[in-house]
Order: sequence, then C-alpha cells, then structure tokens
Amino acid sequence: MVKICCIGAGYVGGPTMAVIALKCPEIEVVVVDIAAPRINAWNSDHLPIYEPGLDDVVKQCRGKNLFFSTDVEKHVAEADIVFVSVNTPTKTQGLGAGKAADLTYWESAARMIADVSKSDKIVVEKSTVPVKTAEAIERILTHNRKGINFTILSNPEFLAEGTAIADLFKPDRVLIGGRETPEGQKAIHSLKSVYAHWVPEDRILCTNLWSAELSKLAANAFLAQRISSVNAMSALCEATGADVSQVSHSIGTDSRIGPKFLNASVGFGGSCFQKDILNLVYICECNGLPEVANYWKQVIKVNDYQKMRFVNRVVSSMFNTVSGKKIAVLGFAFKKDTGDTRETPAIDVCKGLLGDKAKLSIYDPQVTEDQIMRDLAMKKFDWDHPAHLQPLSPTSNKQVSVVWDAYEAIKDAHGICVMTEWDEFKNLDYQKVYDSMQKPAFIFDGRNVVDVNKLREIGFIVYSIGKPLDS
Ligand code: NAD
Repeated sequence: MVKICCIGAGYVGGPTMAVIALKCPEIEVVVVDIAAPRINAWNSDHLPIYEPGLDDVVKQCRGKNLFFSTDVEKHVAEADIVFVSVNTPTKTQGLGAGKAADLTYWESAARMIADVSKSDKIVVEKSTVPVKTAEAIERILTHNRKGINFTILSNPEFLAEGTAIADLFKPDRVLIGGRETPEGQKAIHSLKSVYAHWVPEDRILCTNLWSAELSKLAANAFLAQRISSVNAMSALCEATGADVSQVSHSIGTDSRIGPKFLNASVGFGGSCFQKDILNLVYICECNGLPEVANYWKQVIKVNDYQKMRFVNRVVSSMFNTVSGKKIAVLGFAFKKDTGDTRETPAIDVCKGLLGDKAKLSIYDPQVTEDQIMRDLAMKKFDWDHPAHLQPLSPTSNKQVSVVWDAYEAIKDAHGICVMTEWDEFKNLDYQKVYDSMQKPAFIFDGRNVVDVNKLREIGFIVYSIGKPLDS
C-alpha cells in the first residue's frame, strides 16, 4: 500500500488530503501537524475549518484510509510520498521583511524529513513557495541524507477557499513540476498516477520545477490584478456616473477578457493574494527587475486605496464623522463560505472606522468573537517601511461588540457596512432593518450584493462600489 503523509493540516493540507483519500481508497493518507488543537479538531465532529462539503468527505474516509496525527516524525518516516503544506507567510523582520516569504516552517519540515527518513521518498511542495525553493530544499535534504534518495516535486495548489472541495473534485488543472532527470520524471509519473484516479489526463500538466513554482505566484498575481483593475475602474465610475457592473459586463463579453473575476468590491483579502504578490515583488527586485516589481506592487497599492476609499466614503457620507455612531458590520470573513479572516478587508475598514471613533457591532455567521478581537488588535505591517508597524487606533471593548445575529447588529445603527457577500445579507427583511435603524439610514455595500433600487425605495441611502451615487 502506498503511504502518503502531509505535513500541515491547514486550509490546504486538510481538504486536499481528504479528497486524495476519498478518490484513492487503496492509498493510506496521514495528515500531521504540530498544532495539537488543530489535529484534535480534525478528529472531532467540529472540523477546524469551515468549507462546504468537507465534513462529508472527511466522514467517509476518516479512520479507514485517512488519519490525522501529531506524531509527525513517525508518519513522515513511514511515507513514500511526503507533501509539505506548511504556512509560508510574509517575513516580518530581517532581510526582505514585508515582502519575502518566510520559509522557516518549510526549512524545519525539510530538516525533520532528512532526519527521520529511512527509505527513499518523493517530497512534494504543496505550499506556495518562491521560485527556486526546490533547489534550497534539495540542498538541505542531500546534505543531511544517509544514503537515501529524495526527489522533489512542485505541486502547487489552486483551490479557492469557500469552494475548495468542488475545486479539488474538478480542478481546472493539476500542475506537477519536476527535474528533467530520470528520477525526476519517475517521481512525476508516481504523483500523476495518484491524481489520475479522478483527474482527466489532459488536465494534469507537467513542467520543470521552476515553471511550476512560478506558475502559482503568477496565477495569484494575475487574479489579484484583475480585481485591482476593476476596482480602479470603480473609482472612475463613481467620479463619472458610469456603472461598474455595466462596464464589467461590457468588457467581460470580449472573449479575450472573459467575464470571471470582474466584480468590483471593497478589495481582495485572504492569506494568499497579498503575500504571493509581495513575494513576487521581492523576487523581481532580487533579480534586478525593479520596473517589473513596481508593476506588481501597484496591484496591492490599488487594493489598499480601495479599502481607504471605502472608509472615507462611509465617514464623509455620514456628515463627516462617525464618532459615537453605531455602525453594523455585516460579515468579517474575507469571502463567503469560509470562516477565514486572514487579510480580510474588514480588518482595515473596521480599523479605519474605529480611528474616527465609531462604535462597531459586528456579525459574521462563521467567525468567532475571539478571532475578530484578535484581528482588530493586530498591528498592521507597513511593507513600504518594514521597520515600522503602523500605530493602531485605540480599540476598547466599548467600541466593538460582536453579536450572533444580523438584526441584533443592525438595531439602532446609523449605518451598515456589508463586508462579506454571505447569501443571508441579500435576503434580510430590509423593511424591518430600516425600521430598527437611526435615520437617515445608510448602507455601504462593499460587495455589491444588496438590491439598490429596492433599498432606496424603502428609504435607505445606499452606496455601492462603482455605482452612481444617491442624489
Ligand atoms: P495554514 O496556516 O492553514 O496551515 C499550515 C499548517 O502547517 C498549520 O496548521 C501549522 O501548524 C502547520 N505546520 C507548520 N510547520 C509545521 C511543521 N514543521 N510540522 C508540522 N506542521 C507544521 O496554511 P494554509 O492556508 O493551509 O496554506 C498552506 C500553504 O498553501 C501556504 O503556502 C499557502 O500559501 C498555500 N496555499 C493556500 C491556499 C489557501 O486558500 N489557503 C491556497 C493555495 C495555496
């Protein structure tokens, strides 16, 4: 029986391995992590991450051919294929701080693999890593090995949180990069035969190591760039009376452009887009390509600008101050169908409003009070001036409350900010909402999900991104 071990039981390691276990019943899959609470949760009825369809997949295989364990060394030692899906955040100090990827988790995983291995292994980069990381990993493994052959593959993950299971069941493509040596090609063949259980052959792309590593960074940079492009247009729409939905539709019908990923919003979030672009910027700078670096930097700058624009719009619409006013924040996760708040635009928007002394009442169906308070207490890293952490506006408990019901959040509020496109926010009883609010009642829709005409008929003053303003 082939044994797979995945180091890192997070948003990627957990769902990807659960799907491999489901689709390959003859393979034993063990997901290991140093975080015991996370592993305990994977072994319980309350999985550590919310992802539609995930519970079902885990229930079908857990205890049969899918296992979660903290016994990292034992399971790595026994595996034929070791996936490494540890976190690769942005470095916060030292060389490259604020841009470069922090590879300390990866390095310690690689050293541990070299240390405990007693048989040949394929080591698969599942985490998103800078191009050329495989070379460094190879060096660590080769210099520490004891007559054991390690073959490195790059197999970046393209799933999107919120649709992870659907993406894994029917991926646009699976990418496998390897050395062009006989060992490299043999390892590619082995990994390909795992995915071939359910992914059509023409969707499994094989490349060299560096193309696979760079493709993941490039894919995220292109996706984020589309969002920043449409968001930049949204600012121009607001200034001119054009409607960004009409502009998006008009350009998206051009088959060269296509309609996806053209929704204007308060900005992108999530753990990947910003960090991967920063990483790309750093790689460009290290390779003597400052103009290319500047090009990608702009994608993040527009995203920051969009969040700031939103805060300014809220404050200026509400008679130039939100001091002492209750504002309901609907949604805190960075997108719907996930409880993930990493880099969510809600953090910057809330901090901006708190800076003007607003009182926030926050509701998200999947994010806990603890998580929200932790996020709001975090200092924002200034990547242009990495030596500095931006000062935080003081946040007292009196300024922020987290509630478990949208209507409760909204009661007596002067304004509503929609931060996440959860379906339930489209279907609220807006007459009831209006009746329970202070007047004039404002809605600032950061996701363009509410029915603007209907709300204006009720009496709301509505701001949507990139749309003509209320007169
Ligand atoms: P995560 O933080 O949810 O999970 C990483 C896990 O690795 C953590 O539970 C951590 O405890 C564990 N870990 C770290 N060092 C370890 C070690 N030495 N031994 C055992 N466990 C260790 O991260 P994630 O969101 O799953 O992302 C993982 C990687 O995948 C990142 O490189 C990310 O960029 C990439 N990625 C993420 C997504 C996404 O949507 N989240 C999508 C594609 C790619």
